[in-house]
Amino acid sequence: MFDTAIAGSLPKPAWLAETEKLWPQWKSQGAELQQAKADATLLWIKVQEDAGLDVIGDGEQARQHFVHGFVEQVEGIDFEHKVTMGIRNNRYDAQVPQVVAPLRLKGRVHAFEAQLARAHTRKKLKFTLPGPMTIVDTVADRFYGDKVKMAMAFAELLNQEALALQADGVDIIQFDEPAFNVYMQDAADWGVAALEVAARGLTCTTAVHICYGYGIKANVDWKQTLGEEWRQYEQVFPALARSSIQQVSLECFHSHVPPELMQLLEGKDVMVGVIDVASDVIETPEQVADTIGLALQYVPKKHLIACTNCGLAPMSREVAMAKLDALAKGAALARQRYGS
Ligand code: ZN
Repeated sequence: MFDTAIAGSLPKPAWLAETEKLWPQWKSQGAELQQAKADATLLWIKVQEDAGLDVIGDGEQARQHFVHGFVEQVEGIDFEHKVTMGIRNNRYDAQVPQVVAPLRLKGRVHAFEAQLARAHTRKKLKFTLPGPMTIVDTVADRFYGDKVKMAMAFAELLNQEALALQADGVDIIQFDEPAFNVYMQDAADWGVAALEVAARGLTCTTAVHICYGYGIKANVDWKQTLGEEWRQYEQVFPALARSSIQQVSLECFHSHVPPELMQLLEGKDVMVGVIDVASDVIETPEQVADTIGLALQYVPKKHLIACTNCGLAPMSREVAMAKLDALAKGAALARQRYGS
């Protein structure tokens, strides 16, 4: 009961990449960089296991950014000539690559870190991929001229990699779709359908993570404009509830999401965000257990997974480690409180 998991990313150690940045520069290259990525992946597996988490991830140590890590392995994209583009409905500017030709995978994208992680943990292994709609919102289109067409093309490539990750022994494949909270109507109209193309044929557990973004200033400022009640999920959850995706990761603690919106996910496993990624203050186990208790009003016990609100990539390593501990201790307390 109350399995614990992280949304996906964890901070990169200072010897791997620049710290506390969303698009950090690597500190080495070639074989040396590959070794550093492997070492960082192993380090975080150990830390997650020591904290007592039930679902382990690679912490996204082998990719610079959660979207570009995938896109770098796609043919038809010009990575040499990035352009500045407002992303997430112009919330902030990013340097994005351009789609210039039909999309095709160059080969496997995440085999290295997925196989490494699988070889080093016996616990459930979750692996994250960016969702099609979020990818489309993080690249500049100079070829397709149609968002939906391009999203479906990316979904086919994601599906190819997801099936290969499943063959690598991954237990849960999670697609990250922060864009669902920005373009809610599009998400309901075609975003969920694209997600199902990406998940087609998978027999492992499938998940989607929808959040209000990393704890960076642009996101914190944006949240200030969303008012007292954040109802973005209300438009997307019914479409997800009808979909084949099995788990949904959402923000809860310190968010203004009305918790009753979780009811819209009947039948799904709900990864409830009990750890705030926009604050360095470490949650107490009591706070974590309280948030689980709140969610239990709307989510059956057997469907509740305790999770972080989003990735921890831009945080300091110390804070992230303390938050993983708080997550595990809080879930343990919740099992005592609500177990019987
Ligand atoms: Zn997130």
